[in-house]
Amino acid sequence: VRVEDKLYQNRYQVDSGKVHIKVREHDKPSGPLRALLTACPARCYELNDKGQVEITADGCIECGTCRIIGEASGDIEWNYPRGGYGISFKFG
Ligand code: SF4
Repeated sequence: VRVEDKLYQNRYQVDSGKVHIKVREHDKPSGPLRALLTACPARCYELNDKGQVEITADGCIECGTCRIIGEASGDIEWNYPRGGYGISFKFG
């Protein structure tokens, strides 16, 4: 089974009132920000038409990869979603 097929079974409760991951404003992406484009397993990070890294956190599986890569460098701000929001994993 492909990872994408397994991810499809998860369910998300999107908290539109409070985004749980933010990317710091930038003109050109730093090394850590560029790494997030390929490191996020849910492909939440993308380049916009200005060449800046953006996040759409709706499909985030809260794995913490981007937190390790981008938080220490100050490139992103990472918080868990509020209670009742975020991902619900389906096992089996
Ligand atoms: Fe992607 Fe994981 Fe970061 Fe969520 S926590 S945006 S899934 S790298």
